[in-house]
Amino acid sequence: MSFSSSCILPPAMLGILGGGQLGAMFTIAAKTMGYQVMVLDPDLNAPAAQYADVHICAAFDDAAALQNMTRCAAVTTEFENVNADSMRWLAKFTQVSPSGDCVAIAQDRQEEKEWITKAGLATVPFAIICNDSDIDSHLEALLPGILKTATLGYDGKGQITVGTIGELRAAFMQLQNVRCVLEKKIDLRAEISVVVARLNEQQVACFPPAENQHENGILAYSLVPARLPRPVLLQAEHMALKLAHILNYKGVLAVEMFVVGSEMQLVVNEVAPRPHNSGHYTLDACSSDQFQQQVRLMCGLPPAATKLLQPCCMANILGDIWPADREPDWCTVLNHSTASLHLYGKKQVRPGRKMGHFTVLADDSEQAWQTAQSLHLRLQ
Ligand code: ADP
Ligand code: MG
Repeated sequence: MSFSSSCILPPAMLGILGGGQLGAMFTIAAKTMGYQVMVLDPDLNAPAAQYADVHICAAFDDAAALQNMTRCAAVTTEFENVNADSMRWLAKFTQVSPSGDCVAIAQDRQEEKEWITKAGLATVPFAIICNDSDIDSHLEALLPGILKTATLGYDGKGQITVGTIGELRAAFMQLQNVRCVLEKKIDLRAEISVVVARLNEQQVACFPPAENQHENGILAYSLVPARLPRPVLLQAEHMALKLAHILNYKGVLAVEMFVVGSEMQLVVNEVAPRPHNSGHYTLDACSSDQFQQQVRLMCGLPPAATKLLQPCCMANILGDIWPADREPDWCTVLNHSTASLHLYGKKQVRPGRKMGHFTVLADDSEQAWQTAQSLHLRLQ
């Protein structure tokens, strides 16, 4: 047998902190496999709530809610901005993965960068800015740069591009003088990400790297296979696995990387202790998906196979494309025989909000991307 008798099996109750679209897709995977699911999310309309057996509508550090979650056989998270201390507390009573310590690293860009450097991997050049006195002419080497809040940023939020020391001062003030990381703005040749599924040193796998295209700091398309030389992709997998091993990571870990210059040097941008938007392609194009892996790993089961079955392109659907008076024209995607539509059931539409995605299968990722772009245009 390839798994131990201590595995958590259906119909055990699994818990997740956060009930957004990632929590919803986790819940669907778990329910499909026969588990029960308890979701903690303060939003009454959290997307995962429509699928979960139990929705605890409370804050992530609510003592009574956390007490309730100790009833779960295992608990995981859908995002890094939960209180790492909540996860550490839950770990006293039930299985928690990833660990609160891993979540704490991913929560804070400063810790994350220092930890990546310690692991012997490259980051973009950066400096930490805690107060005004940290800003002086020695930072000119990092300009033009991007000032990012150390915590709580996502989808390009909490980031300001700056060209001069004066702009840097103004941006720091605009971000309310909270601790920040100033990164040099790099000319990116490409962006890729690797989703790792790791139970332990022996039982570990990763999905093929995705080539990610961002628009305004938000992921727009992921192409798989990435259109980069094989040695670069193998190195990306190697780097992602190295980070997972150093953390002795249990669960799904996503590693975002920049491909820089003609040498195609790989630098680590950030890590996410959970399934990732750029891994949504696995739902339609791989032999297992990142949410099934999250369920398996938290239950002590080994990762399932991660093979890409067909080249594909995933396209995000943001609130921006909603016409004022009606729904987008879903028929364009639904009538396409190799496109799969995923809508998250969010009630409020807002510009920049991730409302859904679709994945197109094709003979190669370039062709899938062309089709995805034209379908995306026709949705509006
Ligand atoms: P988030 O947490 O919002 O995903 P990221 O640090 O990943 O924050 O930034 C979002 C996107 O902004 C990146 O995927 C990349 O396209 C761009 N970006 C971020 N940092 C840099 C940088 N130092 N140089 C160039 N582009 C960057
Ligand atoms: Mg990112």
